[in-house]
Amino acid sequence: MGQTGNILEQIRKHGIILGDGGYLIELERRGWVDSGSGREKVGTGKGSGQFTPEVAIEHPDALRELHREFLNAGSQVLQALTFFGTREKLDRAGFGGQTEAINAAAVRIAREVAADKALVAGSVSRTQLFEREGPSAAEHVRDLISEQIRLLADAGVDFLILETFFHLQEMLIAIECARDSGLPIIATMTFRPKLTECSDGHSPAVCARAMMDAGADSVGANCEQEPERMLSIVREMRKAVSVPIAAQPATFRTTDATPCFTKLPQFPDEMEAIQLPRSAFENFAKQATAEGIQFLGGCCGCNAAYIQAFARGLAGKN
Ligand SMILES: [Zn+2]
Repeated sequence: MGQTGNILEQIRKHGIILGDGGYLIELERRGWVDSGSGREKVGTGKGSGQFTPEVAIEHPDALRELHREFLNAGSQVLQALTFFGTREKLDRAGFGGQTEAINAAAVRIAREVAADKALVAGSVSRTQLFEREGPSAAEHVRDLISEQIRLLADAGVDFLILETFFHLQEMLIAIECARDSGLPIIATMTFRPKLTECSDGHSPAVCARAMMDAGADSVGANCEQEPERMLSIVREMRKAVSVPIAAQPATFRTTDATPCFTKLPQFPDEMEAIQLPRSAFENFAKQATAEGIQFLGGCCGCNAAYIQAFARGLAGKN
């Protein structure tokens, strides 16, 4: 199914759009991305260099191949690997001077593979400065995200996915910056360590309404939980807003006590031990439409096999 044009029109036309999977964890597993675990405690939200996207300029073929796999599996959207691609985060990993080159290369590679078969999204994530410095970082955050969105818009992305924000306040800054670009916006919060509130204490319903009111065209949740556990968040958001809901769960089995994989002892070096079977993704896709989900993708741990399972589930839905 060819995919060009506007993501919002595509969602209206098809009812649900299948996104792609998680890039950094999969490329780390393949040996191309540095998790940082050899140098520091990863998963604190305060780390320095881990999981940054310099693979786009250092090993472009590895990134290109993963895009090809997602496209072949049925992805209708390819996300440029620009997660953690703000200048200050790249700087902490030693790549700040290549901020322009990394963002431009990531979009170029995604576009080459997508051709006229998929849309290309720019991925914009939290800066980690709210976790490190608190709300006083707001203006610095605004400058960093605004710069990255300008780079992504200049590189020619079709729309933006603002993802993996722990603080609603930081997400709202990102939405403001994104609105200046004029590009369609999908905005998804990440709930850690609780399912019932984000890091600055807002429920999924409050987050959903605030993101919609700020100008997001689609809102939802991504990362940290497996599909089944993410469902309570998605349902609460669905009731709160009228815009399409986006869900991009992780492929890791979490627990009632710790419903977020980055706080589990297996993160980041033992995640094979908590990897979900892909049938969990197929089953989630079967119920996605009934749950009001209109943008479905995978986050950390999601490789092409899980996107194929999503595609099977969507094809077999009731
Ligand atoms: Zn993730």
